[in-house]
Amino acid sequence: MNHSEKPIVVALAGNPNSGKTTIFNNLTGANQHVGNYPGVTVEKKEGFLTFRGRRIKVIDLPGTYSLSAHSLDEVIARNVIIEDHPDVVVDIVDASNIERNLYLTTQLVEPGLPVVIALNMSDMARDRGVITDEKHLAQLLGLRVVPTVGNKRQGIDDLLQAVIETIGGNGRRPALVNYGREIEAELAKIAAAFGPAEISTNGHRPRWMALKLLEGDTEVSKIIESRPGGNRALAVADAGRKRIETLFGDSAAALVSDRRYGFISGACSEAVTLTGQHRHALSDKIDLALIHPILGLPIFAFLMWLMFNLTFTLGEKPMGWIETGIGMLSGFLASSLPPGLPTSLLVDGVIAGVGGVIVFLPNVMLLFLAIAVLEDTGYMARAAFVMDRVMHKIGLHGKSFIPMLIGFGCTVPAYMAGRIIDDKTDRLVTMHVTTFMSCGARLPVYILVCGAFWPAHAGNVVFSLYVLGVLVAVGMVKLLRRTRFKGMSAPFIMELPPYRVPTLRSLVIHMWERSWMYLRKAGTIILSISIIIWFLMTFPVKHEFSQDYRSMVQTAQTAHAQGTISAADMQTETARYDAAIGAERIEYSFAGRLGKFIEPILKPLGFDWRLGIALISGVAAKEVVVSTMGTIYGVAESGGESGSLRRTIASDPKYTKLTAYAFLVFVLLYMPCVASMAVFLRETGSVKELLFQFGYTLGLAWGMALIIYQGGRLLGLA
Ligand code: GDP
Ligand code: MG
Repeated sequence: MNHSEKPIVVALAGNPNSGKTTIFNNLTGANQHVGNYPGVTVEKKEGFLTFRGRRIKVIDLPGTYSLSAHSLDEVIARNVIIEDHPDVVVDIVDASNIERNLYLTTQLVEPGLPVVIALNMSDMARDRGVITDEKHLAQLLGLRVVPTVGNKRQGIDDLLQAVIETIGGNGRRPALVNYGREIEAELAKIAAAFGPAEISTNGHRPRWMALKLLEGDTEVSKIIESRPGGNRALAVADAGRKRIETLFGDSAAALVSDRRYGFISGACSEAVTLTGQHRHALSDKIDLALIHPILGLPIFAFLMWLMFNLTFTLGEKPMGWIETGIGMLSGFLASSLPPGLPTSLLVDGVIAGVGGVIVFLPNVMLLFLAIAVLEDTGYMARAAFVMDRVMHKIGLHGKSFIPMLIGFGCTVPAYMAGRIIDDKTDRLVTMHVTTFMSCGARLPVYILVCGAFWPAHAGNVVFSLYVLGVLVAVGMVKLLRRTRFKGMSAPFIMELPPYRVPTLRSLVIHMWERSWMYLRKAGTIILSISIIIWFLMTFPVKHEFSQDYRSMVQTAQTAHAQGTISAADMQTETARYDAAIGAERIEYSFAGRLGKFIEPILKPLGFDWRLGIALISGVAAKEVVVSTMGTIYGVAESGGESGSLRRTIASDPKYTKLTAYAFLVFVLLYMPCVASMAVFLRETGSVKELLFQFGYTLGLAWGMALIIYQGGRLLGLA
């Protein structure tokens, strides 16, 4: 054997009393020597062995619970790991205390060195009723896990074999804790501030160094400070730490540690079975119910139902105020400005369109507030966990649930969140069904139509649409998995962070960020679309009508003047003629012709050309369906009694509850908006997939609406 060959350096890390020294002795036998780490009286043990012809040097690190620099032992262990660059770190985990021990593991993988887990004390764990499925754990963590019993020399050869294989590297990627949107954003900023190679972190992941700075680690701060440009990185980290602390009302270090425990808790909920009395923490107790295999789903469903009903009930009053305000504004403008095209553009185009969307701001804000509460308390993670089990069954992973969850807010960030899914096929399947998660933009359409047709049960009907969206997504995943995308997905960890009471500040910020996006859209896309739609509906202007409405109005007025009909009757007559004029005008316009053109396709669904126009405009952004309807019916009514859009469509004899529901389902399912399609293309880089999504969602929407409308009529529901 060649002794001059550079030995493989293996460092043994682990909590105190996890059996490090025992395993060290097993590995090295008598071939070891004990010294001190330079300058301190901490014992340093090193030894050598030969395994399958490879010379291996083993270092027994001091026992630590963490890699932060709180104690001398931790500093030493960490310095060996980050300064000496061992080839492999063997993490000795006490299997009978697995949750506490894995806390160190989450940190050992972060600097980027290869890690192998020795699941030691597996005999004791079994006696205590802690059963670990080590294969599953290994898959979840992306690490090799070797069960050992140190004091009986069991598993030592397997451990060495795993060490050797890990050096070769076989493409496993260790799972890293995700610290949440805000913290991850700060980490990216700090890492970017490290700049190019000179400061970037001498072989350690920049993200890890950034994390240490954010946690306020003085040792790493000193290292960074001494490098060129280091002060800038420190300043970025300081600002980030302050931002996180004001946002959450807790130190960044505490939040980071919560997230780690959440990660571990998630991993253990999957891979570890407890048969004894091991669960006691409050979070664990709450979780007994909330992520219970049977209770979990109905609780989740109930909370979602509650959320939509509260959103609807509480939003009703402020919505009424805004509606009245907008009505007064357009009434005032219509009567004080000279009649003509510019006034019509302002009142029927801009105010009717944008106003129709702003009206729903209270509901949208309430929904976003509810989502923020669920996210910040830690419940959303449980929801994802509960759903993960379901996802497994349908052929997706819980990770897919994250973009889908975000999809309830907006499909654009949801598609971007698809990036967290490593597997390309998984990602595509997820992105193809994320669009069925009913986004915030569809809510105004639901509120309008449900409020009009089911005033007493609007919340329930809205909820049913969300459920339907999820069911369709599930069905589509199954179908896609059987057809275009065969194969299964890789396991991963759903984090279960401890529950916490959210700060008002972070709730408000989270709610406001999203609501602001909504408002901005109203001010930009929706404003422009409203103007375009107004144009399409106004031109070409019609001058000749099928009947002489004007003289009919005059006849009614004369009749009233002569006392033959009452004032009220006269007004009804006038309004009817006005509406008839408006309807003929729209029919004659570009929009009307377009709507008429597609009407034959929509007729079997019970939709007329006006709903057709609304649906076409909704491709720009789904809220636009509402604003377009506002414009269509606003124009149709111009000069008549002003009434809210809701009352107008509810009283239209052409529309029944069945039409309304078929329409809602169509809006739910048909293609995502232009903005999200652009993001889809950017994220997937595939025009083919985009066209596929475009086509199949449209076909599905049409088919489902057909089934509902025609099926309902057969059942006599119309
Ligand atoms: P260290 O603090 O990590 O160096 O832990 P030690 O190697 O000193 O071990 C602590 C105690 O655990 C000793 O009494 C060992 O004999 C015992 N021990 C080590 N490995 C095992 C194991 O796999 N099973 C059991 N039952 N005991 C073990
Ligand atoms: Mg020891």
